Amino acid sequence: MTDDTFKRSTENLKKAVPLMMKNHVAATPANYALWYTYVDRSIPQLNIALDDVLKNYGICPPATNTKLYNSYVARKEETDVNNLRANIEVLVGEVASSMTDTLADTSVFSAAIDKSFNNLAKVQDESMSLAEVMDVVNQFVEDSKDIRLSTKFLNRQLENASKEIQRLKSELADVQKNVLFDSLTDLYNRRSFDRDLKVLCDSGQEMCLILVDIDHFKNHNDSYGHLFGDTVIKTIAKRLLASVRDGICAYRFGGEEFALIVPNKSLRITRQYADGLRRAIEKLSIKDKRTGKQVANISASFGVAELTSGESPESIIERTDALLYEAKHLGRNRVMPE
Ligand code: GH3
Ligand code: MG
Ligand code: MG
Repeated sequence: MTDDTFKRSTENLKKAVPLMMKNHVAATPANYALWYTYVDRSIPQLNIALDDVLKNYGICPPATNTKLYNSYVARKEETDVNNLRANIEVLVGEVASSMTDTLADTSVFSAAIDKSFNNLAKVQDESMSLAEVMDVVNQFVEDSKDIRLSTKFLNRQLENASKEIQRLKSELADVQKNVLFDSLTDLYNRRSFDRDLKVLCDSGQEMCLILVDIDHFKNHNDSYGHLFGDTVIKTIAKRLLASVRDGICAYRFGGEEFALIVPNKSLRITRQYADGLRRAIEKLSIKDKRTGKQVANISASFGVAELTSGESPESIIERTDALLYEAKHLGRNRVMPE
């Protein structure tokens, strides 16, 4: 790495870290690479995409972070390598300086021991007063306290470093497994949902939650088979994905249930949006491959709630779920609140 590249890396590093903290971004390698690239402005499309997310959310939800990383940064090997180098240099620098401190302490200590031994030798050779002997001993005790503290500090540093390495390793394994998405629908999965919702609740971001549950889905499975059921789930997921805009994120919440996080919209607007989705699902007609017949009686029920200040993820999910349950109770194929 040239001096210039190193200087640039360090500058980017200094800009990226505060930005990540401000935007509630966890310090994982992937997030780090993403925000590094963002401040580096080396991939303009990434800056456009991330600026858009920040405009809608005020922060960057974890799943979006990883998705942006995968789409813009992961394949850019060069960026990654530079990034990694910069990180390693910083890490090595930190470890080296704490090692040097301890080593310096150690050599001061051994000089002190040498001196103490010389003094102790003098105790035998020359006639020292009791007070002088006690001084030598006290000095010895003081010096050994210092070295014990220093060694403890180094041990703690090493322990922290190895914990951090373990954490980074498992984060990396997570990234590699691409745990973001649901394999049947290509929507974000439940794990992404949980992480995003938690970060958004913590940040106090204005948002609404939509929960969607397919009506009488068991009947579709029973009448046309499980594979047809899967096709219904996939088709609805596609419809949801086609409708997302303004930073809305769609997730597979569970079996035949979906969730949408809608940032920066009022309950009224979100409700209208949900009703649009409801009408689109109602219009779907899916071919049963076994009989060649079109199946059209597909519908879903919706619950919509707005995050209140200081509300927990569990609470908003519970409230939205209760509304969804009401929609079912009132005859399905509807959005609650009305
Ligand atoms: P309701 O209108 O009250 O929601 O009725 P429902 O039949 O949709 O609800 P219920 O919870 O009784 O049934 C959901 C069914 O969804 C049960 C389960 O076998 C099925 N299911 C869950 N995940 C999948 C999946 O991935 N594929 C398929 N084909 N079926 C699934
Ligand atoms: Mg259900
Ligand atoms: Mg259902």
